[in-house]
Amino acid sequence: MVVASAARVAAVADAAAGADRAVDAMLGREVLRLQSVSKVYGSGDAAVLALDDVSLSVQPGEFVAVMGPSGSGKSTLMNILGCLDTPTSGTYHFGGDDVSTMSERELAHVRNRRIGFVFQQFHLLQSMTAWRNVELPLLYRTTHDRREQAMRALEQVGLSNRVDHHPNQLSGGQQQRVAVARALVTNPDLLLADEPTGNLDSASSRDVLALLKEINAAGRTIVMITHEHDVAAVARRVLEMSDGRLREGELVT
Ligand code: ADP
Repeated sequence: MVVASAARVAAVADAAAGADRAVDAMLGREVLRLQSVSKVYGSGDAAVLALDDVSLSVQPGEFVAVMGPSGSGKSTLMNILGCLDTPTSGTYHFGGDDVSTMSERELAHVRNRRIGFVFQQFHLLQSMTAWRNVELPLLYRTTHDRREQAMRALEQVGLSNRVDHHPNQLSGGQQQRVAVARALVTNPDLLLADEPTGNLDSASSRDVLALLKEINAAGRTIVMITHEHDVAAVARRVLEMSDGRLREGELVT
């Protein structure tokens, strides 16, 4: 019997997942599809139509930026894409599965393992080191290679030399890179980034955007919400939101 190291098993699993994604791309299997999705908050005179008949299909390997002014519906869209909220009408398929028919358990599975989230505020646990933060999404696993996987994710974002640092010992850009590592550690089908540079100075913003670009070039699908043109410029497809409606926008150069 050949005993494979945990790292080797993880590398093979990653390669298999990468190959699956390549096949998905070849067959045109969508990462996600929204069909005529609307979202209404409140009722009667106080009703707000936050999303108005939004349709969207995202293919494997795409890097999509969703732009729009404050109040245009970006967060509402993000919450629905991230399975944190449900449409009032219309359908949402993630990886071919209708989200509206998923149980709480299945939804949690999608949120925890198939989507990696990156937020403006990083949302790192201050009491934990970088690697402990990155390991968190793997805690459901009983395997002993969690530390190794977290280390690999940190290496991917260029932070191998900061693994034992706590968030308050890291710059904003480094904290966001830890958050990106945490989002990637489960090898998700989709990276969902909500204003990932909103809390960073311009040098750190460039740094984090270059990292996202690199991650996308390696095949990962990314949907990023932003209201800044220079941030959207790293994406390969730009969508514009306005008053709850979504349309293809001009590529920002
Ligand atoms: P953005 O992220 O682009 O700023 P949002 O998705 O937060 O836009 O908001 C879209 C619209 O929906 C806005 O008019 C906002 O006031 C309204 N809205 C958002 N969340 C709620 C809520 N929980 N209850 C009522 N109205 C909401």
